[in-house]
Amino acid sequence: MIPATAATALDFARVRADFPALDQEVHGRPLVYLDSAATTQKPTAVLEAIDNFYRRDCANVHRGVHTLSQRATVAYESARTAVKEHLGARDSREIVFTRGTTEAINLVAASFVRPRLGAGDEVLISAMEHHSNIVPWQLLCAERGANLRVIPIDDRGDVILEEYERLLSERTRIVGITWVSNALGTVNPIREMIATAHSRGIPVLVDGAQAVPHLAVDVVELDCDFLAFSGHKAYGPTGIGALYGKRAHLLEMPPYQGGGDMILSVSFERTVYQEPPHRFEAGTPNIAGAIGLAAALSYLEGLGAEAVADHERRLLDEATRKVLEVPGARLIGSARHRAGALSFVLDGIHPHDIGTILDAEGVAVRAGHHCAQPVMKRYGVSATVRASFGVYNSSDDIEALVRGLHTAREVFS
Ligand code: PMP
Repeated sequence: MIPATAATALDFARVRADFPALDQEVHGRPLVYLDSAATTQKPTAVLEAIDNFYRRDCANVHRGVHTLSQRATVAYESARTAVKEHLGARDSREIVFTRGTTEAINLVAASFVRPRLGAGDEVLISAMEHHSNIVPWQLLCAERGANLRVIPIDDRGDVILEEYERLLSERTRIVGITWVSNALGTVNPIREMIATAHSRGIPVLVDGAQAVPHLAVDVVELDCDFLAFSGHKAYGPTGIGALYGKRAHLLEMPPYQGGGDMILSVSFERTVYQEPPHRFEAGTPNIAGAIGLAAALSYLEGLGAEAVADHERRLLDEATRKVLEVPGARLIGSARHRAGALSFVLDGIHPHDIGTILDAEGVAVRAGHHCAQPVMKRYGVSATVRASFGVYNSSDDIEALVRGLHTAREVFS
């Protein structure tokens, strides 16, 4: 049990006060926000960083000699260094700013995998991927005459590692796997899986969208080839995220989009591209977003990765126990190691109805397929209710969730 006010490693009362959006009522009830896997609320430090940029330093980056442009450029490039440090990368040139995880995966598909994917080759993903780690590969496989292969998961929601090993073939050109599943909460044994792929010379892209907010990340230790994540799920703004890519890979990769800022020189006869990462950042980037993301990562670091993981692990355990006490509740996903999210159904009540009843009580959860329709199909459901946690949640929020589930039971009895 995590008391809402008693001291935890996180200094919970202070953390909560850092998030102004939480201090409001919805339908006359205090807001209980349990939808952080979709997007997190933002701490004041992030709001202020963005506000300061627009109030003082607003200018375009990389091309101005004037003071504001220089300030903006320094802030934008410092944000890149902040991401590099947060991910434990060796070199900030290994960090490409993108719109988020989705764009980062599309970049890898278009620029790294496309040139090396021939007819009959294979892309290997898992059965629990988010649509953003499925559809880009389907598009690419259709274009190249290649095949998408899928690592099955067991009833608990763990990948079946023997099947994974069996599916790695001489034709596999990339493995794309989520570290933490947004639909099931499963934490995959990503280190092992990367090492297995590497032992056969196959590169690995990690979808880190649900990992970066909850776990300590060290891309050098993981030895992943690429890692994608979104700022907005890690207390930063929407519209910004990053791709980490090993420098040797990025250097080999052709541009992803053409435009300003990604070139050294342009003539109608010949254009010379910038080196990575700028080669992959055509056009005016999301400068304020990058600055806000750096503030978010710094906020998370200030809390401490271990304290965050510990707080959320205890919340997840408590929520799992209490939700399962509600009559008719069934977990969708009970993997050995989970983080961040709890997916469940209540017999006889559609998840959307549960979501609506909870909303009337001020409790925000997600009800739906969570952009992971294949994994819903695997469990024979079209949707689940997902309660997901952030640093600002407490046992009180779990109590509110469970009260709402009892209300739903009564309404539908
Ligand atoms: N992967 C996972 C595991 C996710 O949870 C999400 C967002 N729900 C994404 C990818 C896509 O992230 P974005 O929409 O920010 O690009």
